[in-house]
Amino acid sequence: MEEKTNLMNFCLKDMENYFLSIDEKPFRAKQVFKWLHQKAVVDFDQMSDLSKGLREKLKQYAKISIPKVVFDKPSVDGTRKWLIEVKGGNCIETVYIPEGSRGTLCISSQIGCTLNCSFCSTGKQGFNRNLSVAEIIGQVWTAVRRLSQQEGVHDRMVTNVVMMGMGEPLMNFDHVVKAMNIMMDDYAYGLSKRRVTLSTSGVVPRIYDLLEQSDVSLAVSLHAPTDALRDQLVPINKKYNLDQLMEVCKLYAEKGPHKEITFEYTLMDQVNDSLEQAEALVDLLRQKQVPSKLNLIPFNPYPGTPYKKPSNNRIHRFQQYLMEQGFVATIRKTRGDDIDAACGQLVGTVQDRTKRQMRYQKTLSE
Ligand code: SAH
Ligand code: SF4
Repeated sequence: MEEKTNLMNFCLKDMENYFLSIDEKPFRAKQVFKWLHQKAVVDFDQMSDLSKGLREKLKQYAKISIPKVVFDKPSVDGTRKWLIEVKGGNCIETVYIPEGSRGTLCISSQIGCTLNCSFCSTGKQGFNRNLSVAEIIGQVWTAVRRLSQQEGVHDRMVTNVVMMGMGEPLMNFDHVVKAMNIMMDDYAYGLSKRRVTLSTSGVVPRIYDLLEQSDVSLAVSLHAPTDALRDQLVPINKKYNLDQLMEVCKLYAEKGPHKEITFEYTLMDQVNDSLEQAEALVDLLRQKQVPSKLNLIPFNPYPGTPYKKPSNNRIHRFQQYLMEQGFVATIRKTRGDDIDAACGQLVGTVQDRTKRQMRYQKTLSE
């Protein structure tokens, strides 16, 4: 028998096309979209505004695959982490971080990552595969549903989504853009484009594509003010250097509606955290005239890494300098430490199919 069509993979347009293809009216798409994403109903029999005939047809040809949560752990500070098992036996992680009236969901786009940034534990695991649209939006679906069952979080729930979990979202472009469209769709999660943020290490040609196809907020992982240092930390810089990156960032910011780019800068002790480097960073941003906001992330150590988190003194001195120069510079608080949900710790139990981790450990012990 032919495999049933998974409706979780569809944006609204796809869903409309699907209904046309099975000789149904396209407005059915909105109904099913609402059941699926807003009411978390996945049983066709419960979709009461569909005719009996249509329900039977859907049962025969379609399915709604929901994520399999293997671990659901709240942290003492309100952070919550879900470990989701995906097809093939791998796990991905989704983290919820409440803060004031905001609830930010950090989601993954790939199993592993191909880009191998020197300080990132995901990069060290190698790459397994891209996540499907269903697996990406399934993380939002799971969080919204599970949070609504948790007492006391009704008022904030998921207000923001950041593509800052495992993987490089722009290396899984089509699926990520489609999943983000579902997040912003009024018949699904209705998030505003200001509240959906894609974080990239700088895959320049895909940022141009994003400029054409989406207008979500953009965060760029900078981590270094010079090409020489960035080449070492973020190897994709060797392919697309700072000049090229800054040029497309400027265009993205000019297009609006966000008007600025968030630059992430992971602070690593004695690597990129000196005052001279803060000055070089200010020079770079001024020279390239990119409207920017800085998000400083103190490095989160993990076993086997040679990098260290700078002292609080050094972190604050770096931030202070940027602020004195008129930049908005925030320090990302480490949250969910007790459940390994902090930034860069989204390793979970992902299997290392490429064995890169073993090679890495071997290199370190040599
Ligand atoms: N691949 C994308 C998004 C995922 S990583 C990107 O690189 O932007 C989200 C952020 O966490 C990135 O800025 C990344 O550089 C940073 N990061 C990765 N490992 C980290 C660690 N161990 N400590 C602090 N930040 C880390
Ligand atoms: Fe991939 Fe981002 Fe980690 Fe670099 S920092 S290896 S791009 S997940």
